[in-house]
Amino acid sequence: MPATLTVPDSALRSDADFDLVVVGASYAGVGVIAAAREAGFAGRIALVGDEADLPYQRPPLSKGFLLGKAGLASLPLKAESFYVEAEVAFMAGRRAVALDLQARQVLLDDGSQIGFGALALTTGARAAALRCPGAELDGVLSLRSLDEARTLSQRLAAAQAIVIIGGGFIGLEVASAAVTLGKQVSVVEAGPRLIGHAVAHEISAFMQRLHEERGVTVKLATKVERIEGEAGKVVAVICADGSRLPCDLVLAAVGAVPNTELAIEAGLSVEDGIVVDEFCRSSDPEIFAAGDCTSHPNVFARRRMRLSSVQNAHDQGRAAGNAIAGKLEPYKAVPWFWSDQYEVKLQMVGIASGSGPAILRGSMEEGRFSLFRYDGDRLTAIESINRPADHMMGRRLITAGLSPTREQAGDPGFDLRSLA
Ligand SMILES: Cc1cc2nc3c(=O)[nH]c(=O)nc-3n(C[C@H](O)[C@H](O)[C@H](O)COP(=O)(O)OP(=O)(O)OC[C@H]3O[C@@H](n4cnc5c(N)ncnc54)[C@H](O)[C@@H]3O)c2cc1C
Repeated sequence: MPATLTVPDSALRSDADFDLVVVGASYAGVGVIAAAREAGFAGRIALVGDEADLPYQRPPLSKGFLLGKAGLASLPLKAESFYVEAEVAFMAGRRAVALDLQARQVLLDDGSQIGFGALALTTGARAAALRCPGAELDGVLSLRSLDEARTLSQRLAAAQAIVIIGGGFIGLEVASAAVTLGKQVSVVEAGPRLIGHAVAHEISAFMQRLHEERGVTVKLATKVERIEGEAGKVVAVICADGSRLPCDLVLAAVGAVPNTELAIEAGLSVEDGIVVDEFCRSSDPEIFAAGDCTSHPNVFARRRMRLSSVQNAHDQGRAAGNAIAGKLEPYKAVPWFWSDQYEVKLQMVGIASGSGPAILRGSMEEGRFSLFRYDGDRLTAIESINRPADHMMGRRLITAGLSPTREQAGDPGFDLRSLA
């Protein structure tokens, strides 16, 4: 994977003007450019990204990349030729530091300014910082970027014991990879269950059992008090319950923070994420935003929300790109997500709401089941363990607003395809 693209000289002129400037070079930014060009946008496009690498897939970073199964060559979202053919002035390794909305300019970290007609903010999110004594010690890592994944991979190879702070998706995926690599693994989670913000109780319990059976020490409802070091290097994690977990590596996987500072300082409306409408327009109609950095009105959740997923970043990016090209199509893609841990594939579709019990389809004992979640009689979400057909069916049903009855959902003999 080439480290950087060759940037045309003209793109770096301090007085350069573009019809569209995209800030943030990842799923959403690439989606904006691809859709805009496909929809006939013929203007000059600049892509500003503060990472040096070609835009790449993040999900493998906590999965196959750590196991040596997803090599660098497999990571780019698009080949270099995509940016050349789309005639994009790609400013890689360059950070946007301020927006001047009056002058319609983006200020870059080298002091240059580029003018824009339309602007797309696709700045994503960053790993939340761990705030406890010892967080600055050598051996305390986080994981969001390819650079961080390279470091984690190297340090993991040399480590004996890793403590993962945070029992969410990224923490558990790294736990699974570390166990597979023969490491001693502990997961410390402050909440009462694993992945508690995102899945049903039954899935949390299944995942906990799975990890414990593989030898992971799982500590729930446990806060980290401090990280102990010797000669500047991490040696143990001290929990608030007094327990001491010896280790030579710590991964802080305590959530993600949307990169909204540019938008806030420019005076755009921000509530958790950059506030956008169904066409990905911010409070300034010529400034668009998409992906992990946004708060959007979600038709399935029936409320405004911020999603962190490849699906959302890609599809929202495309909606923004279409809108920039004058093709107004509201963003209404059904949300979906996946996580791979050991041989288990967890897939989710929809946004769970309502408080009733989930309906089980399949067998938990056999490790192949789905949970159908309802709000009243409306199917809102399906969470599947090793049942990809249920997941794919769920995408069709929820998109179409179709709900099997609870009896139909719970009857494995009932063919869900008959509804679609
Ligand atoms: C380890 C890991 C595993 C994941 N696994 C899954 C999974 O299995 N399934 C799934 O659906 N999702 C997964 N995700 C989430 C998914 O990767 C994100 O939802 C997705 O990357 C969001 O895309 P985005 O384009 O909105 O933002 P990002 O991918 O966060 O990209 C934003 C880019 O903008 C850059 N940037 C920020 N500010 C500036 C600035 N001022 N100037 C220039 N550049 C800037 C950032 O450095 C970054 O390169 C995972 C994420 C991680 C980190």
